[in-house]
Amino acid sequence: VGGKAGSAVQQRAERARHDETVVELERYRLLVESVQDYAIFLLDSEGYVLTWNKGAEKNKGYKANEIIGKHFSTFYLQRDRDAKKPERELELAKRFGRVEDEDWRVRKDGTQFWANVVITALFGQDGELRGFAKVTRDLTERKRHEENLRKANILLRRQQQELERLNRSKDEFISLASHQLRTPATGIKQFLGLIMEGFAGTPTPAQMSLIEKAYDSNEHQIAIVNSLLRVAQVDDGRLHLRKLPTDIQRLITEVAEVQAEDFGRRKQRVIVKPAKDLPKIRVDAEHFRMALENLVDNASKYTPDGGTITLQAKVEDGWFTLSVQDTGVGIAEADLPKLFRKFSRIPNGLSESVGGTGLGLYWVGKIIALHGGRIEVTSVVGKGTTFTIYIPIGQEYA
Ligand code: ADP
Repeated sequence: VGGKAGSAVQQRAERARHDETVVELERYRLLVESVQDYAIFLLDSEGYVLTWNKGAEKNKGYKANEIIGKHFSTFYLQRDRDAKKPERELELAKRFGRVEDEDWRVRKDGTQFWANVVITALFGQDGELRGFAKVTRDLTERKRHEENLRKANILLRRQQQELERLNRSKDEFISLASHQLRTPATGIKQFLGLIMEGFAGTPTPAQMSLIEKAYDSNEHQIAIVNSLLRVAQVDDGRLHLRKLPTDIQRLITEVAEVQAEDFGRRKQRVIVKPAKDLPKIRVDAEHFRMALENLVDNASKYTPDGGTITLQAKVEDGWFTLSVQDTGVGIAEADLPKLFRKFSRIPNGLSESVGGTGLGLYWVGKIIALHGGRIEVTSVVGKGTTFTIYIPIGQEYA
């Protein structure tokens, strides 16, 4: 009795196990069948199609009954078939367990798509090859985006090269034109000088006053031509600095003295703050002086009569700093990024009357960069501006 009962129990248990297996298989079948974004199918060990899912149908255009039993090389381009690529891929999958490929494949209707393909070799427990699992994804959209991006990049690069070329020819034009303008401008200066010295008879006071105006205009003209030439020189990399240990405090004092006349006319006060233990700093004295003159000149230009300009040099944490502070019209925060651009002038209460080219700060920025340094600006509209030059001194200072 016990045996019979026992075998009935065993049978039930076996049936339950069998049912479970069937349910589980069904789940796997559903899982694979329903996936739409991936073509998932099996190949036999020779590469003939054994199964087909929704994704494969959508992806490649064949119904299951049209493709099962056909060789998977159908999906390859003729040139790949000629090159035995399908066979090679199976061989590789067999040898290494899997192979991955990204390349063009063919749909049933002959159209091509960019596919990511993974072929996995399937081995039985006995170690024998049973076939291959093949998962394919259509990445044509991504490929198209990449392609468009690549083309756009090429176009952009070409346009950039063209812009650079145009910019260079514009620079060359400015440089050439300034050279040509300089000679006649300096000629005028000489002749006006001769007239003023009385070489053509004594001018009447009315004549003298007009000649002096012409002389001033001509000086202004020469200054503009010179700044154009200076900019052209830094732009095409012709400028090489000669850096030597320099007594900066003396240089600052000299700059302040040279411009004293301008300050006097505007009733501006210049304060050179004493510097304690300032070592000599390696700069190209000639160009550094011109850069400082530019900043001091701006400070004076953009400060109303009666204001104060303060110059201070320091050495701190491996940096030499030199600040030029004024009590002028100031610069709005939004305008700060424009300051060091070529030909960039920012209108303010004084810019109309003092005139300028918008080249000064551009050139100063380049000169300080050639010294390995940088310039920082802080400003409050209506209160004043501070330009600070930073130059690293490291082992360089002498
Ligand atoms: P420019 O003085 O010939 O216009 P710059 O390159 O020297 O050219 O200066 C660019 C602009 O920066 C000026 O037009 C001016 O608006 C502004 N700027 C320069 N220095 C000062 C300053 N110290 N205070 C206020 N604005 C300044």
